[in-house]
Amino acid sequence: MKKIIAVVAGDGIGPEVMQQCLRVLEHIADNFQHQFEYQHALIGGAAYEHYQIHCPDETLAICDAADAILFGSVGGPLNQQHLKKWQNCEANSLLKIRKHFNLAVNIRPIQVYTELAHLCPLKTERIQQGVDMLIFRELTGGIYFGNHQQSNKDNQRQASDECVYDEAQVRTIAHKAFQAAEQRQNKLCSVDKANVLATSKLWRDIVNDVANDYPCVELTHMLVDNCALQLVINPSQFDVIVTENMFGDILSDLAAALPGSLGLMPSASFNRQSKGLFEPSGGSAPELTGKKIANPCAQILSAAMMLRQAFAMYKEADLIESAIKATFGKGIMTADLADNDAHAVSTAEFVDVLLNEMTNLTP
Ligand code: NAD
Repeated sequence: MKKIIAVVAGDGIGPEVMQQCLRVLEHIADNFQHQFEYQHALIGGAAYEHYQIHCPDETLAICDAADAILFGSVGGPLNQQHLKKWQNCEANSLLKIRKHFNLAVNIRPIQVYTELAHLCPLKTERIQQGVDMLIFRELTGGIYFGNHQQSNKDNQRQASDECVYDEAQVRTIAHKAFQAAEQRQNKLCSVDKANVLATSKLWRDIVNDVANDYPCVELTHMLVDNCALQLVINPSQFDVIVTENMFGDILSDLAAALPGSLGLMPSASFNRQSKGLFEPSGGSAPELTGKKIANPCAQILSAAMMLRQAFAMYKEADLIESAIKATFGKGIMTADLADNDAHAVSTAEFVDVLLNEMTNLTP
């Protein structure tokens, strides 16, 4: 199979982990007779240096023409945000690209690896049954996209944020979440605040309606406050979660604490035409940049999501994920995971072992 991939590495550790990720993709291409054509494009501070804007049309054109977008991360050091290169860099880059492609469905897998269970901040007994869930977050509606207003009334400052959802937005993500649940344990938990919010009542109605198309999937509803509690006291109960924009933002960050490092966390975003952008959940980690110690797993697992979900290359994605587990099983870890720096390997050394494991696991 031939596929064109827009490679948008960005800033900070983005280019370092992307370079290692492309080694993994080349290994897949060689072993499964695929051809990946990489179209590199600038974004974030790296784009600003060339174009004086964070997300130039040239980058959008490359992404438009590609079969999928493999994204790194953007943004500069927190103490340099006043510089023009970094001002609003994340919003100008990521929000622009999300808006351009209308990326409405965001997926974050949350997995506690058995080999890394000691890194989970929860007590061992709380994760004994394993943690492996997908969180589906609606990305284009809700309170972030409504009117934001500040006014004065009776000499008091007031503010309001409008939260709007329409049926089509809920239907789109509900279908995607049910389809994912069908491929997994047939369990979907829809999270809302239907005891208070009109948008949540609509959300629940539409999700119930969509459920008729997926009779094998067991649908439950949970209020968002309870969901936050349940993610901490019993995360194993969840298989697939679907929720609106702001609830998803908060819950997915809460759940992201479970695996032990942001360096393990991939994500994917899709539009209604199934165009996908695949990126680590974390940022550009400026303090790690150039030290060759960043964990490449989030980037590589994002590429695995791309293979599975954009290119239907299931065996290839499974191979990468199994090889990552096998690498951890051998005690090979980057500094964010290792028990002390002396036992940590570099970004490239981790991938050296990973490629060996991929060869060992190839039938
Ligand atoms: P961050 O995600 O970059 O870092 C948070 C913590 O996670 C740090 O301790 C960092 O060292 C660690 N970390 C992240 N990725 C890692 C990896 N692959 N390996 C090992 N450790 C890793 O968040 P921040 O420090 O708040 O922000 C830094 C910059 O990143 C800011 O400019 C911010 O705007 C930007 N940012 C970008 C994105 C994105 O591109 N999607 C997301 C969040 C933050």
